[in-house]
Amino acid sequence: MAKKCFLCDSDDGVIDFNDGTFKNCSLKLAFRKIKNFKYNVVELTCASLDFIGYHTTCYKKVTALNIKYNEEFENFSAENTVST
Ligand SMILES: [Zn+2]
Repeated sequence: MAKKCFLCDSDDGVIDFNDGTFKNCSLKLAFRKIKNFKYNVVELTCASLDFIGYHTTCYKKVTALNIKYNEEFENFSAENTVST
């Protein structure tokens, strides 16, 4: 079964998440949600990993944060360690 991209919903050339990329992506999405940034409505859960993957370009869109939020994100990720 072809997986779909978590962001653009296309199944063309989708890459599987691994532990690292999944944690990074879900943390960035959670951070975007509390900050009301773009993509703050995108849901990414462990349960959906059998059905979704990502494109490098889509992954970068979500995980790239303005450098001025780096410190705030560090604090946020320290407080919100995603357990799998
Ligand atoms: Zn995509």
